[in-house]
Amino acid sequence: MARHREAAAADGAAACMMDILEELARIGAEEAGTELPGTERMAAGTKAQARMMAAGPETQARTAAAEADSGGSGERPGKAEARRGDAKEQPDMAGVPAGVTRLLYDEAWLDAQRHLEARLAGLGLETRWDRTGSLYGRLPGRDGGRTILTGSHVDTVRRGGRYDGAYGIAAGIAALDALNRLYGPPRRTLEVVSLCEEEGSRFPLSYWGSGNLTGRYGPADAGRYRDADGATLEEAMHGAGFGGESLPDPRRHDLDAFVELHIEQGVVLERTGDDVGIVEAIVGQRRYAMTLAGEANHAGTTPMGLRRDALAGAAEMLLAAEKAAREHGDPLVATCGRIEVQPGTVNVVPGEAAFTLDVRHDDAAGLDAFCSGLLRTFGAIADRRGLKLESTLWMDAAPAPMHPGLAAMLEASAAGLGLCSRRMASGAGHDAQLLQGICPTAMLFVPSRGGISHSPLEYTEPEDLKRGLAVLMDVLYELAYEERVP
Ligand SMILES: [Zn+2]
Repeated sequence: MARHREAAAADGAAACMMDILEELARIGAEEAGTELPGTERMAAGTKAQARMMAAGPETQARTAAAEADSGGSGERPGKAEARRGDAKEQPDMAGVPAGVTRLLYDEAWLDAQRHLEARLAGLGLETRWDRTGSLYGRLPGRDGGRTILTGSHVDTVRRGGRYDGAYGIAAGIAALDALNRLYGPPRRTLEVVSLCEEEGSRFPLSYWGSGNLTGRYGPADAGRYRDADGATLEEAMHGAGFGGESLPDPRRHDLDAFVELHIEQGVVLERTGDDVGIVEAIVGQRRYAMTLAGEANHAGTTPMGLRRDALAGAAEMLLAAEKAAREHGDPLVATCGRIEVQPGTVNVVPGEAAFTLDVRHDDAAGLDAFCSGLLRTFGAIADRRGLKLESTLWMDAAPAPMHPGLAAMLEASAAGLGLCSRRMASGAGHDAQLLQGICPTAMLFVPSRGGISHSPLEYTEPEDLKRGLAVLMDVLYELAYEERVP
């Protein structure tokens, strides 16, 4: 196994990957400056959320499921989070690195895809676009037949980082090129994909690339979604030169495996000191809208014993949720991200409180049991306080398990390369959660400094990027050259 690492270094696979990452970071680069995009992003998230909630039930359900999530709207780190990172890295707000913005089918997005096409062609790989604008590089197998796929998404959030998505593409291209030069054509076809969209940053849906690849989305969906300027996804797609019948159908039925390499976007690996993370499952997620109705009344003349205070009830529920989640333990997380109070006046006992609840867990039964238990607790609190509780479950996405055999291969490969690996759940959504529905799928994480992502401050050490590449190369070799497909 070590031969690949040495070869990777000798052959410049790592240099090739870093070079592609550098170039991608320049395409769609924003001005470096002193402002962080928290406010902007929050505003964008709120708008997207509003559009989503305003959409019809079908659209809403699809969007909701899709946002299970890629970090979709309403999910990105807000100002506080960005500032926290900023305070750590740049106490005086000076020298914030340039962010990268490549939104689906915009100019920077098209530049990046064309650039990658030229790069793939320059390396002697076959290139191919699908109808949605996902770009493939291909190393045909000697035995023909089915395909081993790697890659990630080329789009970014607004003023995002340079590694999210781009890393998996750059490493995939570098890996295919190095394997080709070292060992010639594989037995099974190897492909790298630069998926057109994952983030949900421009249109109120996520996973347009992998969703079309796996059949979750089809051509009819393109007319359903509009961006903030009113353009439909279909119009934007045609504007960029895609969507035509002459381009190949994005659906794939010939995949034997998909391996996605990605930055962690969390703090686990940094905290534990492990080199790589092997994802066992991408968490499932439920989102609820809760409304508590009590009685608005005079704050001076209503004795404490006679109140039906909706906000106090909500507060008790939130603390109960936090306590239950802490007691349950990792990787389950429960979050209330928004609360609204009526009438919201200093001298009136709150008559109504509405709050959100987001619960995630990698185990479907565990997620279900936790949510059911919590709703019973909420019901008991409401009854005791004389409040009327209504709960609406508006997103319910099941956990997406990764393939155990492929995960074991990644683990063995990391060990063979002398790396420390850790099995973990992914709390954020990824293309891999859609691909796992059609073929054995695995995900490999490398550390993110400070756990910061969806921010210009996103950073991973080059050595960590190279370690991930070495494991990816090793596993692709086993899958495509030795045909050890689990
Ligand atoms: Zn990503």
